[in-house]
Amino acid sequence: MKVLVTGGAGYIGSHAAQRLLADGHSVVVVDNLSRGHARAVQRLREHARNGDRLGFEHLDIRATDPIETLIREHRIDTVMHFAALTYVGESVEKPLDYYENNTAGSLSLLRACERSWSHAHGGVRRFVFSSTAATYGEPPADRVPIREDCPQNPINPYGASKLMVERMLRDSVAAAARSGSDFAAACLRYFNVAGADHTGLIGEDHDPETHLIPIAIQAAMGKRPGMTIFGEDYPTTDGTCVRDYVHVEDLADAHVTVMQKMTTGTCVAYNLGIGRGYSVKEVIAAVERVTAKPIPVRIGERRAGDPPVLFADPAKIRAELGWSASWTDLERIISTAWEWMRRNPEGYGR
Ligand code: UDP
Repeated sequence: MKVLVTGGAGYIGSHAAQRLLADGHSVVVVDNLSRGHARAVQRLREHARNGDRLGFEHLDIRATDPIETLIREHRIDTVMHFAALTYVGESVEKPLDYYENNTAGSLSLLRACERSWSHAHGGVRRFVFSSTAATYGEPPADRVPIREDCPQNPINPYGASKLMVERMLRDSVAAAARSGSDFAAACLRYFNVAGADHTGLIGEDHDPETHLIPIAIQAAMGKRPGMTIFGEDYPTTDGTCVRDYVHVEDLADAHVTVMQKMTTGTCVAYNLGIGRGYSVKEVIAAVERVTAKPIPVRIGERRAGDPPVLFADPAKIRAELGWSASWTDLERIISTAWEWMRRNPEGYGR
């Protein structure tokens, strides 16, 4: 397939691009490089067996006309849409940035896809969207593990900005079906994505870093003096938040599985998680074991927008598509992140 990967210079998008190339697909990465790394794409191009099948366009997804042109020129048939701002805390501080980039940006991208249905090659037929468990908000305890039919009531602008895109996709698929256009969409609701490519070529490099596992590893490496646990008074066994950590390579694998099994006229949603949760304290202890280094920890205030417990019931995608996470051991997941950070202490370099 010919796949446009938005946000392909970012953490998850670059792993998806890597996997698509490995499977023999052609990939065009579109990224505005506001958070992504040109070097991630460069490394893939240099080291992938068929790196010549990887293109890169420095573009914002809000640039509807150039994106439409790119779809025509590269005869794109599938979009994997990762480009987004992804920090819960930041979304609470700057909600409009999230609605502008994530919601309005997706609208522009979808508009370009819609226009492409009149292109000679048939245009974009499949749209795989990076959604998030944050769309579920704070599910009642009896709805955890979370199934896809759990009510979606996001409690932060990040989750809200993504939920609106799910709705746009559903409506666009329905409209396309009515007008006879060949279009399908999938909303993949990620839980907490973690780890790095097991060959050590690409990995997670955020500035600033806000995610638990890389922060804990940085603290173990002495790159920061210590770390803060955001709240110890949640209604969980040890008082800290519980999340479902899914390996980034599994996530890439799920995208490819979904892409190959999409049915025209449908907009599906799947949870992507391993199906069990770990508390913040359990994650920190696991990082200490993997790195064999102690992590200085202080207890701080709760972080705005954090639901106490989020972990997936991943049964739907297993039953319908036969996909399940293969990295289910937290320490093994963390070791891939540790390996990446050890080999690339400055990330991709700045
Ligand atoms: N967390 C923490 N200290 C940190 C970073 C994160 O206690 O320095 C907590 C955070 O409050 C949340 C969990 O770790 O409960 C996972 O946070 P992360 O930012 O990695 O992912 P999110 O769940 O926000 O997508």
